Amino acid sequence: MNPLWRKYLDVRAPRYTSYPSALHFDEQATAADYGKRLGEVGLYEPLSLYVHIPFCRQMCWYCGCNMRVENDYGRALRYVRALNNEIGTVGRRLGGAGRPLSVHFGGGTPNFLKVAEIGDILGAIELALGLTDGTRLAIELDPRLIGDGDVERLAALGFNRMSLGVQDFDPGVQAAINRIQSFEMIESAVGDMRRVGVNDVSFDLLYGLPKQTAESFEATLEKTIALSPDRVAVFGYAHLPSQLPRQRLLDETLLPPEETRADLAGLADDMLVAAGYRRVGFDHYAKPDNPLARAELEGRLRRNFQGFTDDLADTTIGFGASAIGFVGGLYAQNAKTLGDYYRCTDRGELATARGLVLSPREVTIGQTIRGLLCRSQADIASLLAALSPTEANAVCARLESLEADGVISWDGDRIALRPEARPLSRVVAMALDPYAPVIKDGAARTLARAL
Ligand code: SF4
Repeated sequence: MNPLWRKYLDVRAPRYTSYPSALHFDEQATAADYGKRLGEVGLYEPLSLYVHIPFCRQMCWYCGCNMRVENDYGRALRYVRALNNEIGTVGRRLGGAGRPLSVHFGGGTPNFLKVAEIGDILGAIELALGLTDGTRLAIELDPRLIGDGDVERLAALGFNRMSLGVQDFDPGVQAAINRIQSFEMIESAVGDMRRVGVNDVSFDLLYGLPKQTAESFEATLEKTIALSPDRVAVFGYAHLPSQLPRQRLLDETLLPPEETRADLAGLADDMLVAAGYRRVGFDHYAKPDNPLARAELEGRLRRNFQGFTDDLADTTIGFGASAIGFVGGLYAQNAKTLGDYYRCTDRGELATARGLVLSPREVTIGQTIRGLLCRSQADIASLLAALSPTEANAVCARLESLEADGVISWDGDRIALRPEARPLSRVVAMALDPYAPVIKDGAARTLARAL
């Protein structure tokens, strides 16, 4: 790595799966606002649907998701009833408008639910919003909870994209994060998926976990490549114990230093590219014939709450506790606690608790940042025009600093990320973001000093 870039290694940049991030949501956006916008959805408007299942059997100590450990399946059934109520309520608001292009089950652990319950939820969606043979169904699966015949039954329901939370194959790392799952377990799950014709299998890997070393992560990558998933997402673990108390269960002394983290990310990049995967965005890899790789090649790559996607829908509807939707320029997030969520869904009301109505300038900033993250370049003229003179000067100063360090090239209104600086994509995105509070923290002081 370029020595000038070391100072950016501990910059904690937002993931920019929405703009502004959910930290900026407040209670001024109401269920009434969301309902009004649902009523304005166009007849054939493409929809991307997200269904959140918050339950897990056991807690992984690195987890940053909205989840709860649950041992009582009766409570999960209660949740499914609430979800189906919510789906019906949204369907009535839409009044037949909108066409779901995709349905994504995430969590938590979607396969905490039995396949029968997942089928019930899909049935409710079909009744309320309609599904077609072309609707893409995707689900995140915990390999430890995949039972005999589950993959076949999910495929029979129409799931054609399955994602496995692998994280790391090393037994020592798995013990340190409280997530024990053998290679054979994952090999068997992938084998089941291939046997029933699932041709979009995705793995999530995590670097920056306790006890990870270059040697151990190399072995994890070798095993990943041997199992030949169609996509691999390589995420950096974000250690935020003050915001996520459960992460205090991890032994911090075993976390690799920043430089090792960067080496692990670089190792993953080298090995996956050498194995024939195509880089997609800053943290995804896909086989060249995979729809995500084709979207990247053809300039159609997009970014939404699930990360990088080839999904064409601008409108997202989120179902379940804490789920976020984006409809007609409004972000709407459901109540996070089950009690609050049930209070709304039991009455047949929308469960919106907070959100944000985008201003025209936030639309422009978000478009510019997404363009940079998806295509590694951005036209900054409209962004600068949308900002106040002070903000625009600050953005230019930060970009000058990044240009001087060889992270970006800058020609007129166009900035471009240098190919070898791909791991710093989010740092550049943050430089474009007038709301980025962390710009003044840690190693980002370097950027702040340029202001
Ligand atoms: S299975 Fe996923 S959501 Fe559940 S605790 Fe582990 S990381 Fe978190």
